[in-house]
Amino acid sequence: MLIGDTSSCIISPMDQSLSLYVHIPFCRHRCAYCDFNTYTSLGDLQTRYAHALAAEIRQVGTAAERLAGEKRPYHTLFFGGGTPSLLTLEQLAHILTAVSDAFHMADDAEITLEANPGTVNAAYLQAARRLGVNRISFGVQSAVSGELALLEREHDWATAVTAMQQARAAGLTNLSLDLIYGVPGQTLASWETSLQAALALEPPHISLYCLTIEPGTPMMRWLQNGRITPPDPDLAADQYELACKLLAAHGLGHYEISNWALPDYECAHNLTYWRNGEYLGLGAGAHGHANGYRYHVVKQPRVYIRRMSENEPGVFPVSAAAAASHRPDRQEMMSDTVITQLRLLREGLDLGAFARRFGQPFAAAYPDALAQLLAWGLLWQENGRLRLTERGYFLSNQVFYRFM
Ligand code: SF4
Repeated sequence: MLIGDTSSCIISPMDQSLSLYVHIPFCRHRCAYCDFNTYTSLGDLQTRYAHALAAEIRQVGTAAERLAGEKRPYHTLFFGGGTPSLLTLEQLAHILTAVSDAFHMADDAEITLEANPGTVNAAYLQAARRLGVNRISFGVQSAVSGELALLEREHDWATAVTAMQQARAAGLTNLSLDLIYGVPGQTLASWETSLQAALALEPPHISLYCLTIEPGTPMMRWLQNGRITPPDPDLAADQYELACKLLAAHGLGHYEISNWALPDYECAHNLTYWRNGEYLGLGAGAHGHANGYRYHVVKQPRVYIRRMSENEPGVFPVSAAAAASHRPDRQEMMSDTVITQLRLLREGLDLGAFARRFGQPFAAAYPDALAQLLAWGLLWQENGRLRLTERGYFLSNQVFYRFM
């Protein structure tokens, strides 16, 4: 392959497992730190939104089948948000029917619903499971009431415990909990309280996120007017280190920088992202990566609904509601590959696959960065794979910056 020839860098659409992401941009209340694409006053749009989503799913599914000449198997479907568990069962069923009509979902496909405790009950979870949902990711965030209040989450810890129990009673065993560290006022002891409370629920998967205070959020205003003090990065590093120890002691494998799982409970959907694989993004504000394109969909639900009602055709992988798309050049694809795959702590970056895909050894593509990061002890290389060291886990953003 010629260097600079991007045509042969595109992953063949037939090579990888495929994933679907569906965005549900509705919440009952906006949390103080949230800058996600979600809306708190558009609940009356939900049914129209579900119909627009079904139209987009059918449009993209038809285009995908036309391109491939067959329905290719999709292995994951992820309802993210927003709060997908605010969908009524009728809306959820409508969307899932469109998915199963338009795509061939593999028999063992992982179908995840993000849910907030307090938005689900036993009947809802049982019905969701009957509709095909087989994994729930609960946004519990903290077991400490003062922290939940500061984050402006709507639930308390007892509600989170009940939601987990109801999910298990409904036969849902593939369960994940999200927790946040680096919260203003959070201490190492209060963080341990949250970790221990979460571990007591024996989830097979846990995601831990370090809080980022984003511009435009209430929390950023509180920071600027002195109501809260900025989180201490050294404390956040100690919190992460503590989590690594506690979760390992409970048998949860640290497979991605922010994610831990029992064997075989790794999130298959997110593995597609981290392996830089292909996924279709459906719904307002969703991002996708397929057929050599990266793209995103218009963010505003009303605009999205209007675009999908105008019956304009899309060109795979984008639908009529696409906001923008581009074909990444070789440099961008190399960078994406390195940054996403290094997040996988056990797999790391497959150096042979990198060289085959880009026609150049990794060491030739990034000679200075590789030499420095190995010398600084942030990366290590073994059996043809490049991985972050434990020190590199803490400084991963600095590592990734070198490949941007
Ligand atoms: S539940 Fe999630 S998406 Fe909704 S406002 Fe809170 S942080 Fe944002």
